[in-house]
Amino acid sequence: MTQKEPIHSHVVEKAARDLLEERGVAISAIADIVYEMQSEYNDSLTKEDCVDSINAVLEKREIQHAVLVGIELDKLAEKKELSEPLQSIVDSDEGLFGVDETIALGSVFGYGSIAVTTFGYLDKEKIGIIRKLDSKDGDEVHTFLDDLVCSIAANASSRLAHRLRDRAEELDEKEIEHRDHEERMA
Ligand code: MG
Repeated sequence: MTQKEPIHSHVVEKAARDLLEERGVAISAIADIVYEMQSEYNDSLTKEDCVDSINAVLEKREIQHAVLVGIELDKLAEKKELSEPLQSIVDSDEGLFGVDETIALGSVFGYGSIAVTTFGYLDKEKIGIIRKLDSKDGDEVHTFLDDLVCSIAANASSRLAHRLRDRAEELDEKEIEHRDHEERMA
């Protein structure tokens, strides 16, 4: 058996980003959610910080793979190309299906407990574009996409929370060093 060539990660990342865009999910829309999640804890947080964090999350293979699988199934369901009964289940976003949440949840464990709890919160509250994707009007199928957006936003929020704490502690350390230095000079 011949070994198949691995797909280069840039190809996978680009495909995942293109799919999000194709399905109407802009990075800035996810950034709005991340900002809403994190701004109350950090006065200095900017939208740009949120965009940077999302971009870092989208570099992770487990996220890219979840996006590829989920959106593929949404698209096939939209074109009525899945086999029954899966077609009807995905098309109607059957409440007890749960595989959409499972795939998305599977990619939040890498970012720790804040990501997991934020995912649960977003899945329940459906803020911003998540609510829009979850509304079942029109012929579009976003059964998997709404959960994937929850996952990306939750991961980016968790990552930011940790980064901002590190940044604050680094500043504190510099401040302590500075004070010690001043004291020694006095
Ligand atoms: Mg769903």
